[in-house]
Amino acid sequence: MKCRKCGDRAVLELRRHNAAFCAADFVDFFRNQVREAIRRYRMFERDEHVLVAVSGGKDSLALWDVLLEDGYRTSGLYLDLGIFDYSVESHAKCEAFAAAHGAELIVVRVTEEIGAPIPVIKDVTRRPPCSGCGLSKRYLMNRVALERGFSVVATGHNLDDEAATLFGSVMHWQTEALSRQSPALASTHPKLVRRVKPLYRLSERETAAYAFLRAIDYIVDECPFAKGATSIAHKETLNRMEDASPGAKHNFLLGFLDRARPAFERVDAVPLNECARCGQVTTGTVCAFCKLAERVKRAG
Ligand code: SF4
Ligand SMILES: [Zn+2]
Ligand SMILES: [Zn+2]
Repeated sequence: MKCRKCGDRAVLELRRHNAAFCAADFVDFFRNQVREAIRRYRMFERDEHVLVAVSGGKDSLALWDVLLEDGYRTSGLYLDLGIFDYSVESHAKCEAFAAAHGAELIVVRVTEEIGAPIPVIKDVTRRPPCSGCGLSKRYLMNRVALERGFSVVATGHNLDDEAATLFGSVMHWQTEALSRQSPALASTHPKLVRRVKPLYRLSERETAAYAFLRAIDYIVDECPFAKGATSIAHKETLNRMEDASPGAKHNFLLGFLDRARPAFERVDAVPLNECARCGQVTTGTVCAFCKLAERVKRAG
């Protein structure tokens, strides 16, 4: 197998692109895909300060690496979810990465913000851990960005994540979710920060290869609560389709974004208010995060 660019021995074959690359040209290909994502969705400008949400996993650290290498001004945000050893280890990976690159890492602890770590929140709410966790992450990312003057938050969601989310939304025809599925969510309120996903064109396998070739030290173990999440079942289904027909995930997601998404865009945007307690954006009177914190407090 030869590199498509230089003819040297290839280290990675990308069946969906019908191409293979040597290490140097794969790294180049990867960065170009990120640049294309940023350009196509006008995710951020050169002079913007980007808050990169990092979990210690391969995707978010690969994203931070690309942005740093491309000379963007970035800070990392690590949300400590208090999930046993997983959080201790993933925090350490983020600290080490930031220190090695001379980059700022902001650390926010969910326990301090809401009164309990994710495993306790799961017990209090008797709901799947990912529901309280996802809500807390979205809320804290936005609040931290606002408080510290960032206009944009970048997350490491990759092609597999986005295709699996889309698949789940289509399976249940969640039209509200379909209207929000995008690599770039604009700010629709002065208190909502823009959210972007510059890795949406790159698969999990590709981010793993990039992290490996760049010698990024990331946490390999997944969150212990990830098992059994429906998104994993959707990923497995899509992987089977991808095996049978390379490019299936790519076509599914990018086809939706280019051709189907406009049909779900809402003209009657839901009016947004400011939460009576914390001032963050909500569709009701008190936001879901404040309600959750209240429940945790009462249970404690
Ligand atoms: S798998 Fe669920 S609980 Fe674990 S970090 Fe992700 S959203 Fe949170
Ligand atoms: Zn090459
Ligand atoms: Zn609130």
